[in-house]
Amino acid sequence: MPELPEVETVRKGLELHVVGRTIATAQVLHPRVVRRDPAGPGGFAAALAGRPVKLAERRGKYLWLTVDDDEALLAHLGMSGQMLVGDPDRPLTPHVRARFTFADGGPDLRFSDQRTFGHLMLVPFAEVGGLRPLPAPIAHIAPDPMEAAFDPAAFADRLTSRHTGVKRALLDQSLISGVGNIYADEALWRAKLHWARPTGTLRRGEVSRLLEAVRDVLGEALRAGGTSFDAMYVNVNGESGYFDRSLQAYGREGEPCSRCGTPIRRDPFMNRSSYSCPRCQPRPRRAHW
Ligand SMILES: [Zn+2]
Repeated sequence: MPELPEVETVRKGLELHVVGRTIATAQVLHPRVVRRDPAGPGGFAAALAGRPVKLAERRGKYLWLTVDDDEALLAHLGMSGQMLVGDPDRPLTPHVRARFTFADGGPDLRFSDQRTFGHLMLVPFAEVGGLRPLPAPIAHIAPDPMEAAFDPAAFADRLTSRHTGVKRALLDQSLISGVGNIYADEALWRAKLHWARPTGTLRRGEVSRLLEAVRDVLGEALRAGGTSFDAMYVNVNGESGYFDRSLQAYGREGEPCSRCGTPIRRDPFMNRSSYSCPRCQPRPRRAHW
């Protein structure tokens, strides 16, 4: 499943290959891809024809193209979404759900999504609290820790005033966006914090350590994801070199912790799993499952 680093790699690709060009046609090849767009497949396609693409932006796992200055072509990659840029005459592959051609006749853009959890919609911008305008459906999503708008002091205040476990808080998109299950486990391992630690018991220093760990983990994954990116092909499939090389906790049940040698433990967590080192990340006396 694409997480923030993979989505950022796609955003950079779109910035390089699509920004500055004018959409000639938009085709919806499967109606499910625009299921959240009130205009439906016909309205979505008609509204994009002839529009210039000004910017490629991202917050958390959402990315969008700003068309003209007043609307956003908002995309969520879901489980398996890919953005493909290439020769407009190449054959259509079975999972392409939408296709965009450009007025310059150059490479086209295809949204491919095998499992169809991803979606596209054309939406207006909304301003919330005088901050930068965001596509209206995601205006409530908190800044992600890699963007300039992220305020570490405000994050610390909001985190420690919650009555929840620290991992649940990291996955809460209204508090901090773009941190998925894998990166949460990795950041908690680095910061030596147990995932069920009640947020109200975190000291300032621990919150700083956690935030630094989140940024380090995401930053390393971004650099790893960036290496699989070539000039003519923008592609994300939820796999980056990072997952193979650098995971210290996630998916490593029973393997020795690289810091202390204790076998990594797996606990069930919200229908998924949490991986941690029992020695480096001792379970708190009061745990918040
Ligand atoms: Zn350890």
